[in-house]
Amino acid sequence: VAANALKTIARNNKIKHYVENSKELYPILQKAAKRFITGETKEEGIQKAKELNTKGYPVSLEYIGENTSTEEECLKAKIEMIQLIEDISSQRIDSIISFDLSHIGLSVNEDLAEKHMKELAETAKQRGCYLMISMEESSKTNSILNIYKGVSKLYNNVGITLQVNLKRSLDDLKELLQYPGKIRLVKGAYKELPENIIPRSQELNVRYLQFAQICVNANHSISIATHDENLLNDIKGKGYLEKENVELEMLYGIRPDLINKFKEEGYNSRVYMLYGTEWFLYVCHRLAENPSNIYQFIADMVNP
Ligand code: FAD
Repeated sequence: VAANALKTIARNNKIKHYVENSKELYPILQKAAKRFITGETKEEGIQKAKELNTKGYPVSLEYIGENTSTEEECLKAKIEMIQLIEDISSQRIDSIISFDLSHIGLSVNEDLAEKHMKELAETAKQRGCYLMISMEESSKTNSILNIYKGVSKLYNNVGITLQVNLKRSLDDLKELLQYPGKIRLVKGAYKELPENIIPRSQELNVRYLQFAQICVNANHSISIATHDENLLNDIKGKGYLEKENVELEMLYGIRPDLINKFKEEGYNSRVYMLYGTEWFLYVCHRLAENPSNIYQFIADMVNP
């Protein structure tokens, strides 16, 4: 209940506007958000990516933004991402780029998102860079999959995220195996109608394992994107992590101990990092997922 309440608060534009414009509150929250966000600029994101590369982690970089609602904002976001692709390529950063299609056009219309997606894929192809499309709320799943499938016919440097908690996802997975892109398996972060999802449970973990098995049997590239230690141990027990085209991926600032352990054991381990000024909603999601983060967040806010 608390988690859903926090997610609802985070999506309330009046609260977001108040926080972002409060001279007292904003800097305190910004300080505490640093646990989850690499910084507000591309340069800060790239700097952190370099540091993690040096420690032996490839990374994913995301320029945060959601539901960009005007064509002009979408164009700006696309330009930032093109620049990001060029910068990581020229600086030889070991990074893929992740993003929401809503950030580059889907909240305006599907055609705009598809147009920008193709431009990003073309630049990324020229620069030897890989792109991963994130998955958003289920009202957008069909559009996101359509755009992914269209772009996948032209480019093989684009992958897609799939939410294991959505009931429809097993059918989607079987179709996605026909396309070349990496599939990132996540449990799912969005508030959805109960009848459309399988909630956090042992049943969901069994289903996650089943999805991973289907991909491994098809010899398809996957990212195991979870912080669930028991689930990860089950996946490791099956031997899936030994495969060259299977990698682990965890969010920056969440269970760094756990990803380090898997990296030290020799498994492909990637850290997903974000930068940008639009971090409020993202940070609220991460706090909502784990109450202990809320206590830590408050401690970070008040500590000098
Ligand atoms: P849960 O079952 O939520 O938690 C299991 C255990 O993991 C917890 O008991 C705790 O020990 C640890 N844990 C989980 N979350 C936290 C936290 N915030 N702080 C501390 N410990 C925690 N979701 C989408 O809907 N679309 C996407 O495109 C998407 N992309 C993602 C990309 C990556 C690389 C990752 C790692 C996640 C992504 N997510 C995405 C989020 C995902 O759907 C989950 O909401 C999130 O990963 C939490 O679920 P979990 O699998 O870690 O396990």
